[in-house]
Amino acid sequence: MSSFDGRVAVVTGGTRGIGFATAAALASSGATVVITGRDAGVVAERAAELGSRVSGVALDVTDSAAVKDVFKAVAKEHGRIDVLVASAGVLEGGLIGMLTDDHVGTTLATNVAGTIACVQAAARAMMRKRSGSIVLLGSIVGERGNAGQTVYAASKAALSATAKSAAKELGRHGIRVNAVAPGVIRTDLIAEQSDEVLAKVQADTALGRLGTPEEVAAVIRFLVGDDASFVTGQVLGIDGGLVL
Ligand code: NDP
Repeated sequence: MSSFDGRVAVVTGGTRGIGFATAAALASSGATVVITGRDAGVVAERAAELGSRVSGVALDVTDSAAVKDVFKAVAKEHGRIDVLVASAGVLEGGLIGMLTDDHVGTTLATNVAGTIACVQAAARAMMRKRSGSIVLLGSIVGERGNAGQTVYAASKAALSATAKSAAKELGRHGIRVNAVAPGVIRTDLIAEQSDEVLAKVQADTALGRLGTPEEVAAVIRFLVGDDASFVTGQVLGIDGGLVL
């Protein structure tokens, strides 16, 4: 397994779910990890739970000026940024007829614009070292679509395209960019899905169950580490066989 000794990782959306599990996985492999989330108190509390290798900074990814400042400050404090895991994301809205401007605006501002701002800010620091690795959180619905999730699916499809385009552009600077496309993972994000919907998804997976944040984190750790040194521009499914 890749070692992350001496590496610095930023995990957005690191206060909960997949981001929190990824921060834990990277820290346990030797990385110095900075997690972000919107509430300073929550960020500090969650970082403390992960031990001395992990610190936290409040950051709303929809504020592009703040994104720039936070990544600059992290690079200054730690001397480098080697890894970005862009896990901050929201699942808003529903059926097309019920979508509001707010649902569309918040989803695109957070999932797409927020992620791109983080990629841009991290890439600036990584280019200086001519090395780095980025993983974006796509989704199987970005590949397949899903009734009731039009705007969310659109945002996740945009992230697949972002990963591929950024991989092409940043490869010559020694930076790899990939995305993962999880199926349904037990986190707060899916708390509002009915038991009936979740049971149907579970039945549709080859493995007959939903995933855990730790299972996604282990794949992300592989992708951002040296074991995946020739992997870039990929969108890797982590869905228990849901798309088969
Ligand atoms: P959670 O709801 O558990 O966590 C979401 C995280 O995003 C929190 O840490 C939250 O931090 C952060 N966040 C939300 N909005 C913002 C914002 N504007 N600025 C900064 N941080 C923000 O979700 P998951 O862990 O399940 O999801 C993580 C990613 O994985 C998302 O991008 C999601 O779309 C994707 N994904 C999840 C799947 C699932 O089934 N769970 C399936 C496929 C993809 P805080 O509230 O503290 O600010």
